[in-house]
Amino acid sequence: MLPSSRKGAAVQKKLAFSEITATADIQVRRHGARAKCLQRLVRLDMPVPRSVALPFEAVRDIAAGHDIDTAEILRSFGEFPLVSVRPSAETADWGGPGTLLNIGMNAQMCDHLATVVGQEAANQLYLRFVQSFSVEVARLDEEEFADDQTLKDALHTYELEMEEPFPESASEQLTAVLRSMARAWEGTTARLLRQAKGAPPEAALGLVVQRMALGLGTGECGSGVVQFIDPVTGLPQITGRYKNQAQGRGGLLTDRDALYLTRDPRGPSLEERCPAAFAELIAHGARARSALREEMQIEFTVEDGDLRILDAVRVPRSSRAAVRVAVSLARDGVIPREEALMRVEPQALAELLHPQVDRSGATDVFARGIAASPGAATGRIVFNAGAAQAAAAKGEACILVRHETSPEDIRGMHAAKAVLTERGGVTSHAAVIARGLGVPCVVGASSLQIDSRNRTLATSDGRSFREGDTITINGSSGEALAGEVVMLPPALDEVFQTFMEWAEDAGDIGIRTNSDTPADAETASRFGAQGIGLCRTEHMFFDADRLTVMREMIFADTSADRQAALERLMPMQRGDFRQLFEIMQGKPVCIRLFDPPLNEFLPKTRDGVRQLAEAMDLPVSRITRRVEALSEFNPMLGMRGVRLGITVPEIYDMQARAIFEAAADVALEGHPVEPEIMIPLVSARREVELVKSRIDATASAVRTHRGVDFRYQLGVMVETPRAALRAGEIADHVSFLSFGTNDLTQMTYGLSRDDAGRFMGTYVQQGVYPEDPFHTLDIDGVGELLLIAAERARAVRKDLTLSVCGEHGGNAESIAFCRSAGFDYVSCSAYRVPVARLAAAQLAISEMAPKGRATISQWITKHLRIGGPADFD
Ligand code: PEP
Ligand code: MG
Repeated sequence: MLPSSRKGAAVQKKLAFSEITATADIQVRRHGARAKCLQRLVRLDMPVPRSVALPFEAVRDIAAGHDIDTAEILRSFGEFPLVSVRPSAETADWGGPGTLLNIGMNAQMCDHLATVVGQEAANQLYLRFVQSFSVEVARLDEEEFADDQTLKDALHTYELEMEEPFPESASEQLTAVLRSMARAWEGTTARLLRQAKGAPPEAALGLVVQRMALGLGTGECGSGVVQFIDPVTGLPQITGRYKNQAQGRGGLLTDRDALYLTRDPRGPSLEERCPAAFAELIAHGARARSALREEMQIEFTVEDGDLRILDAVRVPRSSRAAVRVAVSLARDGVIPREEALMRVEPQALAELLHPQVDRSGATDVFARGIAASPGAATGRIVFNAGAAQAAAAKGEACILVRHETSPEDIRGMHAAKAVLTERGGVTSHAAVIARGLGVPCVVGASSLQIDSRNRTLATSDGRSFREGDTITINGSSGEALAGEVVMLPPALDEVFQTFMEWAEDAGDIGIRTNSDTPADAETASRFGAQGIGLCRTEHMFFDADRLTVMREMIFADTSADRQAALERLMPMQRGDFRQLFEIMQGKPVCIRLFDPPLNEFLPKTRDGVRQLAEAMDLPVSRITRRVEALSEFNPMLGMRGVRLGITVPEIYDMQARAIFEAAADVALEGHPVEPEIMIPLVSARREVELVKSRIDATASAVRTHRGVDFRYQLGVMVETPRAALRAGEIADHVSFLSFGTNDLTQMTYGLSRDDAGRFMGTYVQQGVYPEDPFHTLDIDGVGELLLIAAERARAVRKDLTLSVCGEHGGNAESIAFCRSAGFDYVSCSAYRVPVARLAAAQLAISEMAPKGRATISQWITKHLRIGGPADFD
């Protein structure tokens, strides 16, 4: 049986509907976006076939089983109505059931059409209607209605399955279609799908009934779609397709045979076949762009040379196209800049900064993990940092594949085009470093079995890869792909720069960068970072020559020997800092004193120990003893950060001297310089007092020695819950607090940032955590600590600078939290700076508008008044 009203529940109700005319009361909130868009097209004098809008409440009634009088709707379509029904949700992106065409098709209509287009074409149309009605409305099996069946077969199959003849009456057909679409909207899958796209639970559906413009006749006839941009690049370009009726042959063309709109190498294009209709189509396109304030894809038909516009939807587009379109609409005065900024998802910008996998090409995914650093790269597999460096030296692109990475791998990560790890989460070592370097990275691909010794990689589907095999890493999607794939280049063009400048003007929270090297700092400056918010100095010690000196320092028996080794490191550090000061040209540079445990600088394998013994001319046993002496059960909670600074003060003394001497040199040359020094892993006020007194003494000594004055700020990195709780007493000694939310999240949850990836998926899936807290700041727990700390600290020092420098600094939701908490800036890795800048701009713009996001663009257009008619009612 066809879907019909429930017995007993049937209530005769007059069906409300409105013809879509220029003056009708059609509202997005009552009739949906499609109905409103059609009204706008009508108001633009476009040749839209007669259309009728059913409001949300009517569609709800239909779904609830109320009887509907469709004959009344159809009466307005003439004696032999032939109509389509299209869904019209409040927001086009929420989707809805598919459009149904040719309702009203029956034997009589078929005979009539045969006189116009021939029996074969008319039968084809009838057949397609019977098929789509049977499958979409009567919900019969698709397999029963194969492409090659005849009209007679299809009607027979329908009758057999439904135990009643195919409905002939247009009104009966329309009733069934409306009911089926209304109920499809209420289905669980449809509900979940649209809620995933942001639809509220109560989202409703409107429907549009439209006279069919068949594109059939004796002259030039056909149907097609057109858009005026390339959906991948966003560049102006007329693209689309047109299916000609193929007169004389009586058959209808398939999609594959569709003609191009312009310049078709296979024969005359639409432009050549029908120049007048084509010119009209182009003119309508231009008017739609300025009046609807968007790049639209237009569905049309040509009937005996006459154009009809059936529908218009926003052109689906890539991220790079979204930026280009937004900028071009704003430049043409169609939308204000603020709205252009609101139209691009911040996260989408990450895709513009790196090469991307072209999704239209074929891909062969062999593993999935966490998308830890965006972009994509292809190269040959290597299993250790040394092999990566060797490959890079030969100019070969390589992908570093590791169980997980450690500081020893940094050079290898520099040399590799991408990184893939079996373990780790979004703040694991591999993830943090890769983002900093802008190297695509997938972590936590736990289905892989990596055998570094035999240099093989086994996948869960039984495949095996060897060193030298070519793979591609897609760090934007978290996929590892076999072989090479088609890539799109980065899009850091003038349009992108302009967009970022607009974001800069609109944003009102500072965006700095976490940059450790001059290369990172250069990149971040190019992306508009307002300073360095975190320079992790330990990364400067992993160059081969420095590592040796570092290790000599670790093996020193006396303070004097340690001092001597540090004396050799000092000029190197001074050079590092000088370069950073020069690149940042007077913008603040916040340098974090040495943070990791010393054993990170010691070898982990027997081979490594032997090599070190050789290099240092020491017995293996001595090296092993030292490694053992420095090893800790839980190094991340052990002797690192300020604890090392207090127990081995020579390291911080050396770093402070290097910072101040570099600052003095730059100042002496007449350039501005703003050094900031940050103490990591603080948990007690006394730690700050001890370190501060030595740093202040070093600064005075350098000032006297160099004969130049310079300013500097001292701050504390709040990474332990205790530092957050005791922020009041700590604030007394410093001028800034920067929240290291990676460690703070780790310690607040008691959850290892390096291992959480193993079960994070399950936890998020089962709703234990709403999101990975290393990715999106946990507002309830960690956030509360931030607020407590901020309040206690500012009660002591009103002018204290507050910031976040953990990975959350690049996350839009976390930036919103920091901004509302009155923080001064956030700091994130260089490649996330543009994302953060746009997120900050959007937050500031949103605050201007009174309500939620759906109304922001309306508000902007009404209040910043620019462009075409703001037809939002
Ligand atoms: C942090 O802990 O948030 C931080 C920025 O430091 P790191 O990631 O180097 O531990
Ligand atoms: Mg930390």
